[in-house]
Amino acid sequence: MKILRLVVSLVFLFGRSTPAQSAPAPKTVKAVRFGKLWDAKGKVWNNAIVVIEGDKIKLVSTNPSDIPVAAQVIDLSQYTGLPGLIDVHTHMTQYTDETPEKPMLKQLVDNPPAVEVFLARKGALRTVEAGVTTVRDLGADQYEDIAMRDLINRGEMLGPRMFVCGYGLYITNTPYKPGLNPPAGGIADGVPEVLRAVRQQIAAGADVIKMYASTGTDDDVTQFETYSYEEIKAAVDAAHQFGKKIAIHSYGPDGARDAVRAGADSVEHATDMDDATIQEMVRRGTFYVPTIDHNRYYLDNWQKIGYADGFQEKTKAFIERNLETARKAHKAGVKFAMGSDAIYTMFGQNTRELGWFVKAGMTPEQALETATTNAAELLGKAKELGAVAPGYYADLVAVEGDPLTSVDVAIDHVRWVMKGGAVVVDKRRGGE
Ligand SMILES: [Zn+2]
Repeated sequence: MKILRLVVSLVFLFGRSTPAQSAPAPKTVKAVRFGKLWDAKGKVWNNAIVVIEGDKIKLVSTNPSDIPVAAQVIDLSQYTGLPGLIDVHTHMTQYTDETPEKPMLKQLVDNPPAVEVFLARKGALRTVEAGVTTVRDLGADQYEDIAMRDLINRGEMLGPRMFVCGYGLYITNTPYKPGLNPPAGGIADGVPEVLRAVRQQIAAGADVIKMYASTGTDDDVTQFETYSYEEIKAAVDAAHQFGKKIAIHSYGPDGARDAVRAGADSVEHATDMDDATIQEMVRRGTFYVPTIDHNRYYLDNWQKIGYADGFQEKTKAFIERNLETARKAHKAGVKFAMGSDAIYTMFGQNTRELGWFVKAGMTPEQALETATTNAAELLGKAKELGAVAPGYYADLVAVEGDPLTSVDVAIDHVRWVMKGGAVVVDKRRGGE
């Protein structure tokens, strides 16, 4: 017996193994009380109690006796609770500030990758302050998105949980940033190069694939398809082969039509889609991420960004057609997910898109579903994110007012945010 103990203690001494020595630290238990709770599972709870163990929700109840004795109780009974919101289209690493005399577009070109990632923490904070606890980030340079995702997951940076794509795939064109092509990633012409580029992103650690299948970005609202159906299909199949979803950017109807037919999981922007494409989206369950609000942001901030004057009329017309396409798609029964396309200083305005969805004919509840259950489904995380229910991540938002009456409450009246069981924002009146 003594010999055995000696052996065991030597093992510990040399650090070979320690887990059996002591029981794991008990998980922190919290109980959050809401006056009302919309759980995104079709139920509004009055006087809800959400019990949290570690980073997950243990139970939802209205019975105070369900609060564990050791729980830290957080009283939000004057607020309405929502699941943490999900923005499925961001560019988190392309954050800029309003440095005087330096247009934001120029900042993106000039900032070295490490500087961009460091600055991006400010946009990340504003994003969680808007109640957004998860994002799907659709396009970055130099794998800054992977670095940022991992820094957030390690607790070194405060920000939303990120699902990232690395480089979006695009055809050979004029780079927006000198030196970006070649040899930088993402450029792929023809099926073999598309296959290689998809595999490169996955090998680098991407969670999702992004492909730019049309022109159109910033102050340019042209809609020309840039990839052939065969190239798009190759990207979709290669992504799916590795269990990854694929988002396809198309400002216009042609790229959207081919993306949907090829089996894309979501189409981004996709203004002027024809009825046959919309019907095909309903049939296949393809998500539509219209990103209407980002063009509003460009119109409001074009001088600071550094666009040349004269683009505004075309962009205004594009917004109207984008909204009209969203209206048609919603009426036809297409599934929507909320994507802001946040970039530059747009972080914090991520959920304004919900206002456009209500304009397109959704009820506030339907709009909130696009940023919760629908978005989680598009991420392939429908059982972990986007709802307040046992087993889900403890991502919670407290808003002041009733977001089911006015969606603006969810946009402008966020007072408190929890991500993975940790309080990350607390702006309650007389906050604790
Ligand atoms: Zn985008």
